Amino acid sequence: MEGYAEVRRFSEVRYDPLTGHTSRILDFPVRELKRPDLTGLIESSRPLCPFCPEVVEKVTPKFHPDLASSGRYARGEALCVPNAFPYDENGAVTVMSHRHFVGLDEFTPAMMADAFACCIDYLEDVRSKQPDMVYQSLNWNYMPQAGGSIVHPHLQIAASSTATNYYSAAIPALSRYHSDSGEDFWPDLVEEERRRGERLIASSRLLSWVVAFAPMGIFDVVGILHGAQAPGDLRGELLQDMVTGVLKVLRYIDSLNMASLNMSVYFHLDDDLFTPHLRICPRVNIPPFETSQINYMGMLHNETLTIMKPEDICTGIRQLW
Ligand SMILES: [Zn+2]
Repeated sequence: MEGYAEVRRFSEVRYDPLTGHTSRILDFPVRELKRPDLTGLIESSRPLCPFCPEVVEKVTPKFHPDLASSGRYARGEALCVPNAFPYDENGAVTVMSHRHFVGLDEFTPAMMADAFACCIDYLEDVRSKQPDMVYQSLNWNYMPQAGGSIVHPHLQIAASSTATNYYSAAIPALSRYHSDSGEDFWPDLVEEERRRGERLIASSRLLSWVVAFAPMGIFDVVGILHGAQAPGDLRGELLQDMVTGVLKVLRYIDSLNMASLNMSVYFHLDDDLFTPHLRICPRVNIPPFETSQINYMGMLHNETLTIMKPEDICTGIRQLW
């Protein structure tokens, strides 16, 4: 394009400071995304929706009395029911609202707090009856582009005796870090990010927010729940702080015209080195052909590729924090 003049492109390979997992930050111009029109999707999915209030109690299952002390769990508009197609011992979903569609800028603190609290009621119940279900997580596929098969907003809850690959990488790495340095990884990470000043969004006694140095997605916002060890600790001030932070991240994602995301809140019970934490990654399709962001690199090399620099994302989020 420039008469074969020699040019240089600088792409980075970054190592996750805990697991060593690599991510690549590509030198490619970031173009502004066009806000997707979701009207057709919202309307066409409405008649088939199992989570709308007219049908949810008729078409969703109930927990078995041997496994849970309640058939369903409710908080405000939130309703936790078994996942009809589970992929671990205690798969459940929490319908977050009576509304079929809630835009990223429309979630309220009460709606979000009720949804999380409802999941936690269930997880605490599982813990009391099945103590070996130590891998517990709250997860969110927001909209089909992020793997959500139902538009109506809902969280996915897992309480399993089997680790996912995420846990299998993080747990031994945390223990290695502890035996090498004698310190805990999470406070050290926050301290190092504070010292460098490039990716720390905010930090308090209960909760710190950083943009991941080596992201798992286009970008990756991590909330570290210093004030918690188990799901049951996610109440009161800590829950409110987490909800406030999550809503700010949602607003930031919305401000970039991105309309879908994945979120996970991870717990590993009875493990002092595993501070519960959450990650939020937006999902995008790449214009003009709605190209999937997951190509062979993510699919077959388990490698993240992004064009967004974590430090630029941190600058953007701080402006609305
Ligand atoms: Zn619905």
